[in-house]
Amino acid sequence: MSSHNPQVALKAVESGAIEVLMFSVNPCYDLMPASEDVEQLWNEENYEGHLTNMDSDRQRLYETCQRLGVGITVMKCFGGGDLLNAELSPAGVALTPNQCIHYALSRPGVAVVLAGAHSVEELKQSIAYEDASDEEKDYALTFASFPKISWQGHCVYCSHCAPCVKKIDIAYVTKFLHLTEAQASIPETVREHYAALNHHAGECIKCGVCETRCPFGVAIRENMTKAAQVFGY
Ligand code: SF4
Ligand code: SF4
Repeated sequence: MSSHNPQVALKAVESGAIEVLMFSVNPCYDLMPASEDVEQLWNEENYEGHLTNMDSDRQRLYETCQRLGVGITVMKCFGGGDLLNAELSPAGVALTPNQCIHYALSRPGVAVVLAGAHSVEELKQSIAYEDASDEEKDYALTFASFPKISWQGHCVYCSHCAPCVKKIDIAYVTKFLHLTEAQASIPETVREHYAALNHHAGECIKCGVCETRCPFGVAIRENMTKAAQVFGY
């Protein structure tokens, strides 16, 4: 199924009737509340105020997709090209194709990105993601420089805080912690994915080095404590 509305898409995912969801994912649309009017996603007026963190319906949709094994196929990862242009982007700062693709691929539930292109050159820029370095994919500092959007206190799974001195993959641990929230018990797939990590939250020595590298002021030590309590190690 294809949708731009996170509330409608969530109903479809929870129904068990679909296995794949095509959905618009990018760091600007992710701020917008659900609407039947798709024009609202790129209506400049909606971005005029100061916006903070992602819409909770969208977060819930992505997390539910991951929990239930419904793969998200991403459309609009460049916002029709606007996000690559500082003058057109609602964020007020231009992102690179690598950053847009990496943001979409690091949302829970996302399996694949369909990157649109107006030319062969644009297509090549998207394909270059396959060989891009971690630095080229890193979107954290660019997000932190957005003049009108704040992600303060919200983990966007960017891994800018790496490396952890105990080799914990902080972004994945935090993502799995979020996937347990508002659940009566830990979903089996989340428990398995957490178990498969090489290092776990219980190994955190609370040195705080990672927090000095997080551009969004995330309470990483607190999250590691919570994850160790929830998963037991
Ligand atoms: S804790 Fe901060 S730096 Fe680390 S993954 Fe989350 S947002 Fe990125
Ligand atoms: S505080 Fe914990 S998670 Fe952060 S670098 Fe130190 S050991 Fe790793």
